[in-house]
Amino acid sequence: MIWYPYAQMKNLKTPYKIIDAEGVYLKTSDKNLIDSISSWWCMIHGYKNQELNQAMKNQIDKFSHCMLAGLSHEPVEKLSEKLESYLPGDLNYYFFSDSGSVGVEVALKMAMQFNKNRGQNRKKILALKNAYHGDTFMTMAVGDDEDYHSAFPKNPDVIHIQTKIPDLEKAFCDFGEQLSCFIVEPLLQGAGGIRMYDISFLKRARELCDKYDVVLIFDEVATGFGRTGNRFVSDLVLPDILVLGKALTGGYIGHALTAASKKIFDGFYGDSQDLAFMHGPTFMANPVACALALKSIEIFEREDYLSKIKKIEEIAKRELLGFEDPRIADIRVMGGAFCIEVKKSETLKGFPEFAYKRGIFARPFVRYMYGMVPYIITEEELVRITDTMKAWFTENSSH
Ligand SMILES: *Cc1c(COP(=O)(O)O)cnc(C)c1O
Repeated sequence: MIWYPYAQMKNLKTPYKIIDAEGVYLKTSDKNLIDSISSWWCMIHGYKNQELNQAMKNQIDKFSHCMLAGLSHEPVEKLSEKLESYLPGDLNYYFFSDSGSVGVEVALKMAMQFNKNRGQNRKKILALKNAYHGDTFMTMAVGDDEDYHSAFPKNPDVIHIQTKIPDLEKAFCDFGEQLSCFIVEPLLQGAGGIRMYDISFLKRARELCDKYDVVLIFDEVATGFGRTGNRFVSDLVLPDILVLGKALTGGYIGHALTAASKKIFDGFYGDSQDLAFMHGPTFMANPVACALALKSIEIFEREDYLSKIKKIEEIAKRELLGFEDPRIADIRVMGGAFCIEVKKSETLKGFPEFAYKRGIFARPFVRYMYGMVPYIITEEELVRITDTMKAWFTENSSH
């Protein structure tokens, strides 16, 4: 039996069975569904992209996998070379792993060992309220999401703050010298409720991290590759460690990247093996994943995805902002993400089925009805999504 995620298996609704997928469409036996959430935000080029398919096939025909200890290969070397010019600042040291959660674990371990290696005993971690960084234990600890992780104990060494500058300043004032790192989803908090905040918060965070010598980690697993309208938020404020995942491989297979600055890398560099970073996933830098990532970046640049995302943002704003209903608490749009937050979670019960009938795959959670669309979506397809979201309110007065 398949054990489904985040589900009470006793009353699981039968999942829609996908038999084919192409462009923005997921196909079931009776429907062509626009995927409004890009399969958990990763399918930025849509499904069955011919170039990605070909890149994957080419690499499979050579070899699908080899380990990265004692061995290297062209896809990882080419990807690393590309990333050195593509990623901002001196984020030039690349540790690969198999999923976003592991990529974040790697970042946290790096920050902790970086401090240990330089003889500093910093025990605390600063993180944000409503943060989501993954489902493994340490990522849950820096996360703050009762809807996902309430079954597990809190970690007393993690401090959670609001995305407000006075809270930030107070935390550094109180704990600055004890902090090993500050981890954030920059500008857009995804699984914690598609929450958006201002860049001024991150600029101040950078200043305070410099002042107190705290490692700043950007978890851009969700925001990387254009989701906020910026290529990376790290283009605006430079972190010490950047984590990418989800869209890194165009959504084709799981892979993550933890990119460190020279300062972090140098903290591990020396004559003693004790200083070395002790981590190594079996599938790190899988050659198929690397070949996909390289091709995905090529398409992203060549097809000027940032202007496509700008267009998505304009249309979503035009269609959603100003829409009113007494059940709605807030409507927000940023880059390729848009969200209608309702006051009560019951308001969204039945919306996936309603959307399915109208040819949309949607998966609202808690109080958030949202879209994180593939960037190749047309205006007409996008408006079908926003119309469906609005119709849920205008055509239903009962829920
Ligand atoms: C999805 C997500 C993760 C976890 O990635 P997985 O590949 O699901 O392990 C971590 N951080 C953020 C911000 C995410 O959105």
